[in-house]
Amino acid sequence: MRYLLGLLLILVLAAGGAFVYAGRLPGPAIEITKPVKYVGQTAPVEVVITAPGAHLSDLTVVFEQNGKQTPLASMAQPSSAEFKQEGTDRVRVSRTLTRDQVPDLKTGPARITVTAERKVLYGMRKVRSTASHDVQVRLEKPMISVLSTKHYINLGGSEMVVYRAAPPDVESGVQVGDLLYPGYPAAGAKMEGVHIADPAVKIAFIALRYDQDVNTPMFAYAKDEAGNSARADFDRLTFPKPFKKSRIELNDAFLDRVVPAILETTTEIAPQGANIDKFLVLNGELRRKNAEKIASYSKQSSPEMLWNGIVFHPFTNSAVEAAFADQRTYIYGGKDVDRQTHLGFDLARVVNSPVVAANRGKVVHASPLGIYGNCVIVDHGMGVQSLYGHLSSFAVKVGDTVEKEQELGKSGMTGLAGGDHLHFTMLVNGQMVNPVEWWDQHWIQDRILRKLREASGS
Ligand SMILES: [Zn+2]
Repeated sequence: MRYLLGLLLILVLAAGGAFVYAGRLPGPAIEITKPVKYVGQTAPVEVVITAPGAHLSDLTVVFEQNGKQTPLASMAQPSSAEFKQEGTDRVRVSRTLTRDQVPDLKTGPARITVTAERKVLYGMRKVRSTASHDVQVRLEKPMISVLSTKHYINLGGSEMVVYRAAPPDVESGVQVGDLLYPGYPAAGAKMEGVHIADPAVKIAFIALRYDQDVNTPMFAYAKDEAGNSARADFDRLTFPKPFKKSRIELNDAFLDRVVPAILETTTEIAPQGANIDKFLVLNGELRRKNAEKIASYSKQSSPEMLWNGIVFHPFTNSAVEAAFADQRTYIYGGKDVDRQTHLGFDLARVVNSPVVAANRGKVVHASPLGIYGNCVIVDHGMGVQSLYGHLSSFAVKVGDTVEKEQELGKSGMTGLAGGDHLHFTMLVNGQMVNPVEWWDQHWIQDRILRKLREASGS
């Protein structure tokens, strides 16, 4: 009897101990991943709950502002949000906060509080935890209006838009189709007679890509961190441009020279087969990869105009062998084997002639670049850059500031080049554009200087 009583006592104590111990187990881990900081007219709310076995018995997400609580999600009402089981231990709760749910949502501070509860000790006890995240509600839409007028855009060409976006720290720019062109503070426009101090005035250089439709939608946009956005149209005319067609005959002597040389400096691709097969990979896939790499340099563009003088060096002492956006058909063994668009100008002088910077700027690339061979890219600021391909040697290095017409290197035939020439193109936020416009004094006067002067009121 005593023995039985003793056993019973031990069992009761053990059960009690387990009960107390279980109550001290940690509650579910709560992570409020969205919103990070701002809540706008709408905001995604995302919470990740981690609990061993994911035995959640309760879960609520509450939005709290000015003492008023609004439930956003609850396990009791699973229809209010998306509950997604991730593995055995995690539950992800997603919900979009809208003004319909929180009608008296106001600009100012707010808090999201999450409570989660899990079952322990075979479901006999529950442990809970709570987490809060402070956010800022911003309901005012940014303001944007375009100041510049008479925008004329050629297919494959450039334009400039001056606009006002407020508050001044809002992200803004111009969207052309699905491409974004960021705006830069107009105070960085260093041209004669131009002085724009208003921090809300921005400049965006834009491009209408050679392969976009002339009716591509375009507008200035502003978007804040809370997801509030605004857009503004601008008057414009766009013009189609006929691009030339040309045929390029490939032969084995050319392929034997260029294909192994390009592959020697290329790590992105490793094509197999005959030189003509490798060539087709270089001309297609490597051309695309090179374009992406070239476009990535736009992120390094200076927010200030580094160039001076009205016009870009026009290379008039060279013979034009190919123009911008020539549609090239490649022929090998009597057959059409490829088609590509030539996005630049081919300018030939004598072998190893000095290649000069089209304008003042900073060197952002000076090394082999795939099909462009030895290649220099100069940043002129505000997303405007210039590219020089097929060089035989370099006279500059990355980081150098170069003056207009300073030597960058000597012309050559590195990369995909049939003979000694300079491949030149202008870039606007990474997109290759027709340099003819940048060589034209009247174009610069009308599309850039006129608009800057109008905006600076001079
Ligand atoms: Zn070329």
